[in-house]
This record gives sequence, C-alpha cells and structure tokens, in this order.
Amino acid sequence: MLAAGVVLLTSMPTARAAAAEPSFVMPSPYVIAIDPGHGGSATNDPTQLWDPGVVVGNVMEKDITLDLAFRLRALLAKERVKVVLTRTGDEYVEISERWNRVHASGARLFVSLHVNAFNGDPAINGATIFYPKPDSLSFAQAIDAGLAQTLKRYQIADDGVAAKPELWVRSDVPTATVEPGYLSNPREAGLLSQGDFRDAIAMGVLQGMLAADPQIEQVKLQIIHAEAAAAAQHQAEVGTTADAARTATATRWGLILGAIVVLWVVMRIAIRRQAGAPHLPQYRRRGYRRRRAVSRRS
Ligand SMILES: [Zn+2]
Repeated sequence: MLAAGVVLLTSMPTARAAAAEPSFVMPSPYVIAIDPGHGGSATNDPTQLWDPGVVVGNVMEKDITLDLAFRLRALLAKERVKVVLTRTGDEYVEISERWNRVHASGARLFVSLHVNAFNGDPAINGATIFYPKPDSLSFAQAIDAGLAQTLKRYQIADDGVAAKPELWVRSDVPTATVEPGYLSNPREAGLLSQGDFRDAIAMGVLQGMLAADPQIEQVKLQIIHAEAAAAAQHQAEVGTTADAARTATATRWGLILGAIVVLWVVMRIAIRRQAGAPHLPQYRRRGYRRRRAVSRRS
C-alpha cells in the first residue's frame, strides 16, 4: 500500500519546460508617403498662409486631394503598407516641410495628389502624371498605366507622363505627381465629385504602386506569415499554460491520495501492534506434550 502511494506520487506528469524562443521575426512594413496637395483656409490672421488649389464654384482642390489620400491610404493599409501623409487635415504646409515629412518617414515611394485645371478652355481634359527626374520615370509610367486601367470606364483620356523638374527637386525615392482629371472640365469636375470615381483613382494609383515595386506584396506576405507564426506560438503557449494548470491539480490530488494511503498503512500497523502477539505457540506446546504423554502411556 505504501508502495502504491509512492508510485502514485512519482507517476504524476511534471510541468513542461518554458516556451521555446520565438520562431519568427516580424518584418518592418513597407512605407509609402502620400501628399494631399494644397491645404489651409482663410483665417482672421493675415499672416496665416492658406492654399485651396483650384477652386471651381464651392469645390476646392485641397478637399479632393485630402479625400483621395484617405481613400488611397485605406487601400494601402489592406496591403499592410505603412502610409505617411504630409497633412491629415485642412492645413497649410510648405513644400519644403512636406518633403521633410516624406524624408523622415523612410518612405520608399512617394505620390503627390492634385487635380488639374486649365484657364480659358474647359474642353481640356485627361489624366497626367508628372515626375521630377529620370529615376522616377518608370514609377510614373506604372502609376499612369494603373490609372488608365481603372479610369477607362469613365472615358478619361490618358495623357501619359511628363517631366516636371521643378516639382519635388529634393526627392530621392520614386516620386510621381498625380493629376487624374481637370476640375476646369465640367464632365471631369462632375466625376471628381463622385465617391466611386475617387475610389477608381485611388485604385489606379494603388495598382501602379504594386506594379512598380513587387517588394510591397513580398513584405505583405512576410507580415502575414509572421503574424500566423505569432498566432500559432500564442496558441501553443496558451496550451502549455493549461497543461501546467492540469499538472498542478493532478499533483495536488496525488499528494492528498498519497497522504491518505500512508495514514491508512500507519493506522493498520498500529492496530495490529495493539492486538498483541498471538499465544498460539504455548497452547500448541501444551497439546503436544499431552499427545506425547498419551502415546508414552500406550
Ligand atoms: Zn494642385
């Protein structure tokens, strides 16, 4: 019985070793900077600069560009891209400060969003992409191709790409200024007021970015893979904790059962001792003598 108790105690499963080291590395996200062109409204302070961009009626370029930036940011977030905006509200920001914000973000691609205008001829229309230097040409072409694809069903003419060296002179990453349509063209102004057309612009720019740098999709896959590994490890750790809890409970019960068994054995020994030693040998000896005496007599 004592042996059984010892076996019960020693056979309890021991707690597992601490969780293994992380088997994954979370990659740093791909960073893209977006510049919503223009910004800021007139205030009572005459020293405060403001820049609405193109204004047609009560429609202002600065509002369209900010909305386009938010739509593009939402699409890029689904690609696990970290998006940095040069402004997130109705704010006047100098071009040099905008570039400082882009540069500080560590962005690998940069687009500046605008809408076009042509004074004197409302018939002028179409989408144009500007690029500052030859090293941004292929990026501009990719954005242009993406836009041409998503704006085709709106019959937006593709005016292609054009060099504009005075824009973003300090840029050292692929840079493109997107002019998806003319606010001075009544048909395109009408489209630019529609949410689905703005979504199509954002989608076209996104497609261009994905085509320009396959790294965007690769980093996305790495992040998804690392997140899956992290989730699996978390599940394993939760399982280990539950095992450890079960083991602790089993050990407690093992100790209680063992103690009961030991107590029972000790009590049995004590009861046997109290009953005293048996007197059988004396009785038997007497009977034996008697039997011998009888046999001698016969
Ligand atoms: Zn503009």
